[in-house]
Amino acid sequence: MKHLVIGGGIAGIVALETIRRHDSRAAVTVVAAEDHPPYSRPMTSALVAGTASPARMCLRPETFFADLGITAVIGDRVVALDIEPRAVHTAAGRRISFDRLLIAAGAEARLPDVPGADLDGIFPLRTIADAEGIVRVAATASRAVVVGGGLVGCKAALALRHRGLPVTMVITSSWPLSQQLDDAAGMMLRAEMEESGITVLPGRSVAAFRGNGGRVTAAVLDDGRELAAELAVVGKGVVPAADFVSRKHIRTGTGIRVSEYLETSVPGIFAAGDVAETFDLAGGGWRLNAIWPEAAEQGRAAGENMLGRRTAYPGSLARNVIRAGRLDLATAGVTVPPKGETGFTVVDHLDHRRGCRRRLVFHDDRLAGMVLVNRIAEAGRLMQLIRTRRPLTLPPDLLLEISLGDCGWPICI
Ligand SMILES: Cc1cc2nc3c(=O)[nH]c(=O)nc-3n(C[C@H](O)[C@H](O)[C@H](O)COP(=O)(O)OP(=O)(O)OC[C@H]3O[C@@H](n4cnc5c(N)ncnc54)[C@H](O)[C@@H]3O)c2cc1C
Repeated sequence: MKHLVIGGGIAGIVALETIRRHDSRAAVTVVAAEDHPPYSRPMTSALVAGTASPARMCLRPETFFADLGITAVIGDRVVALDIEPRAVHTAAGRRISFDRLLIAAGAEARLPDVPGADLDGIFPLRTIADAEGIVRVAATASRAVVVGGGLVGCKAALALRHRGLPVTMVITSSWPLSQQLDDAAGMMLRAEMEESGITVLPGRSVAAFRGNGGRVTAAVLDDGRELAAELAVVGKGVVPAADFVSRKHIRTGTGIRVSEYLETSVPGIFAAGDVAETFDLAGGGWRLNAIWPEAAEQGRAAGENMLGRRTAYPGSLARNVIRAGRLDLATAGVTVPPKGETGFTVVDHLDHRRGCRRRLVFHDDRLAGMVLVNRIAEAGRLMQLIRTRRPLTLPPDLLLEISLGDCGWPICI
């Protein structure tokens, strides 16, 4: 049996380890576009901040693939996938055949489609190469602009500020992380970022970039104002890196649609990680939940299934635990009930004195989502309740009180 994995990120490497754990003899090949040993992508912002080095970001040793007896094609990219006969073609002209394939090619940063977006000094933040480019320009830049207020935008803004650069963050919403945070928690985060010296411009977008000699000198806002900046970092979300997948052959939505066995619509071809659209445990339906722990878990389940060991993956849960300045934030699931949908109950708690925010969102008798700001010790247990979708025996208010961590958890939950 010939196994092929596309992608050397966390989903790919966990799948490779899983395959090898159970089968020491199968022929296994990996193709990975980036010319680095496997590394922690979330730490690219620490590289920008100057608090990590590429060496510290490595997840596995340089000899990882050789140690596992895996044929590694590194620094090459899959450009086409044949379903019959089964093979991939790479940019360097290789043809690699397979019996079982895992597509774990992750995602690519979405770049803004505005005039001047191709000027030097404008970067996404996804790879070590992006982070190194940002650091190079930051060394001589006097001001930076960050476009977008999602997780990557927030991390980039905080990292650049940590380097001492004046940073302006342009966000279309009223507060950063607007997809995850409700208004009260969002305004706490915005205040925290402003206090750290970041200028947040809410309700605005960048309409163009201006430059001089091919280098960016300013971002032009949709109201005509210009923000002088020699460095721009764009965090406007990601798109699955699935250009080589034909929609005619493999079912795709926003990502590659997979079954509970991480299998695509073509038997024997699997997908995992940021490239895959999985069942969303909190909201129902299929969704891209492009986060690290889900990519790792999907990689493990996909590896098992490639070996024919039927291992169900119940679905993914959007969640995050991050520190932003002095705030600890934990979010999961549905944090703002979709407009017009019934069955949701929201219970909120705000303690200004302790800088503590709680929101729990219930759907019928189940916990569907949460937002915790500070005192987040109970986040893991709440996430577990959301993930398992267990009917609750407690009234929402009592669960909210318990979530503050002031008392122990009763056995009945
Ligand atoms: C700045 C930043 C901060 C983040 N912070 C967090 C966080 O705090 N918490 C969290 O949960 N998640 C965070 N994430 C998201 C997290 O990093 C991703 O969910 C995770 O890395 C996805 O892993 P993956 O293996 O699916 O994809 P990736 O890590 O993107 O790996 C994909 C691999 O496939 C390769 N590849 C792509 N296309 C091809 C091709 N055509 N042929 C061959 N190889 C290919 C790539 O080079 C790469 O090796 C962050 C991401 C970024 C960028």
